[in-house]
Amino acid sequence: MALPPPEPALFPRPDNSPFEHACERCGTYAPLSSKYGPSLCAECIERTAHPIVQTSASLGEVLTGVFQLLRVVGLPAVLLVTLAELPMSIFEFVVPDVPFALSNLWGFFVGTAAEMVVLHLAWQAIATREQQVAVGAAVSAVGQRLGALLGTRFFSNLLTLLYSLLLVVPGVMKALSLTLAMPIALHEGADANAAMAASTARMEGHRWTALFAYCLAGAPFLVLLLALLCLGTGHDLANAASAPASSTATTAFYDYTMLALGVLTPAALVPVTLVPAVLYAKLRQPQRGTAV
Ligand SMILES: [Zn+2]
Repeated sequence: MALPPPEPALFPRPDNSPFEHACERCGTYAPLSSKYGPSLCAECIERTAHPIVQTSASLGEVLTGVFQLLRVVGLPAVLLVTLAELPMSIFEFVVPDVPFALSNLWGFFVGTAAEMVVLHLAWQAIATREQQVAVGAAVSAVGQRLGALLGTRFFSNLLTLLYSLLLVVPGVMKALSLTLAMPIALHEGADANAAMAASTARMEGHRWTALFAYCLAGAPFLVLLLALLCLGTGHDLANAASAPASSTATTAFYDYTMLALGVLTPAALVPVTLVPAVLYAKLRQPQRGTAV
């Protein structure tokens, strides 16, 4: 009785190099990548890639990608960014006149770190085709890159500010060019300078898509802001009409409104955070068939 041919994956090729192993999907000997999920060759990774990687970087596909990621990492992302902002929001509510610089610094250090953990969760979801998303792995990856990430954020903001001093439009265009700076600094071990240069190169021709994607992904935040503003204004008007002398209630209402805004804003901005995650996955390699 003839034995069936051996599973190629079980038998090492006679002259296999130490860097080539049998792909867990097709059995071909090749350098494999197993950073997330099974060890696969480049072709199998390509063939089984997440839809976000396989589809184009059009506005529709970017927004579809944001929705797909929200479905997988939306809940942990909302919890993470809310928890990160909560201590500062409560502090500002309890202690009157917290210096603006203090909440700014909190946002820069803690807010950026939380945002980067969300970015890493999104990348895990894309890289493992939604098989494996671990908050612990994301936190440790961000921890290892924190210095470079904070540096990239600082210089990106500085550069955007300098361009904004010229005019609003150059500032916006610069910010859009730097869309991928944070994911590149997080995933590719780049320092601030290299990350910003690589982002500018990859975003060439995609800045308008990014602008519209940011605007649409930011819609929940704008709705929240408008709702709270309307609520506040309505209350102020009612208050002024009934008792113009007493402003205590108005002040308290204003404080609560600001607390609500502080607590809810990070969660409402999660879709905005996912825009660079989607664009990074789509624009990681030069698009096939187009000149670099
Ligand atoms: Zn393979």
